[in-house]
Amino acid sequence: MELRKDPITRSWVITGDDVPDNAPRLEPFCRFCPDSRESLQLIASLSGTPGAPWSARAVVHPNALYHIEGEPTRRGDGIYDKMRPIGAHEVLIENSTHDRPLWNASDVEIEQFLLLAAQRIQDLKGDGRFKYVSMFKDHGSSAGQEFEHPTSQMTATTFVPRRVLYELRAAREYFESKERCVFCDIISQEIKQDLRVIELRGDFIAVCPYAPRVPFESWILPRTHEAAFERFGLNRPGTMRDLGALLRRTLQRMRTITEEFHLVLHTSPNSLHRSGNLGYWKTIDEDYHWHIEIMPVLAAKAKSYTFKEVYYSPLSSETAVRRLRDAKIEP
Ligand SMILES: [Zn+2]
Ligand SMILES: [Zn+2]
Ligand SMILES: [Zn+2]
Repeated sequence: MELRKDPITRSWVITGDDVPDNAPRLEPFCRFCPDSRESLQLIASLSGTPGAPWSARAVVHPNALYHIEGEPTRRGDGIYDKMRPIGAHEVLIENSTHDRPLWNASDVEIEQFLLLAAQRIQDLKGDGRFKYVSMFKDHGSSAGQEFEHPTSQMTATTFVPRRVLYELRAAREYFESKERCVFCDIISQEIKQDLRVIELRGDFIAVCPYAPRVPFESWILPRTHEAAFERFGLNRPGTMRDLGALLRRTLQRMRTITEEFHLVLHTSPNSLHRSGNLGYWKTIDEDYHWHIEIMPVLAAKAKSYTFKEVYYSPLSSETAVRRLRDAKIEP
C-alpha cells in the first residue's frame, strides 16, 4: 500500500493491490472478547468499570493499513507525490461485553471509552512524525463495519485528512476576519434560534447542522471553547460522563431512524509537527473547536447521494431535529 496525493484537490489517498478482505467472516470466537485465544498486541487498557475484567482497551489493528516503523520518505513521481503509509492503526474496544454496543452501554462505560480515546490521541500526538490522529466508528454492513465486538478505530497519519483540512482552513479564515471561533458562533446561534438543537447536556450540545450532507446528520460539540478533544477530556475528566450520556442518547435517537451510521471525532492537528507550508497552527487553539460528527446511512437513499457531486439531503435539519427530539429513548 502507498499514499498518493491527488494534485488537483491536494488530498491524500491510500491505495494499492493488497487491500485486506473486509467481508464479514463467521469466526468461531471473537478476538476482542476477554476470553479470546488470539494474542492481540495490547497498547493500553483502562479498568474503571466495576465488575468488568477491563473497561476499554486499545490494540493494534489486526490488518493495519498504517505501520509505525520507518519514515514516510515523501517522493516525487513525475508531477505526482507519494509516500509510505507510516502511521498507527488501532482498534479501540469500547467495552468488554460482546453484545453491548455504545448506545446500550452504561454512562460509566462510555466515559471510560472516551477517556481511553483521549489518552491514545495524546500519546500518538507525542510522535512528531504524525500530523493528525483520527477516531472513527463505522456501524452496519453498508457503513463498512469490520468487527462484531463494539469497537472504534484510530489512525495516526503523516497528513491531515481532507475534510479536517477544509475545516481548519475555513475556521482560520473566519477567525482572521471576525476574531471569533466559527464553531462557538454556530453554537450560540443554534441555542438562540432553537430550530436545530437536539439536546443540551452539561457542557455539551447535540445539533443537526444548518447544511446537512445527509438527512439526520448530527454533531455533538462542547459549549466551552477548546480545540483539542484530548486536552479537554484529560483536563476535565468529569465532563466525559455527560458527553458519554449525550452520545448514547443521540445514537439511540438516530437508531429509531436507521441502524447504520458513521461517527468521526474531529480534533486539532498535532502541534508537535510544524509543517512549513501550512500556516494553520498559529491561531489554532483559538480558531478550531473539537466536535463529533454522526452521519447516518439511509439504505434506500444511499445511491442518490453517493454519486452526487453536491450533497443532497431530501429532509431539512429543522424537520429532522423534530423526529430526533421526539424519539422514544431511555433516560
Ligand atoms: Zn467480542
Ligand atoms: Zn469555539
Ligand atoms: Zn468536523
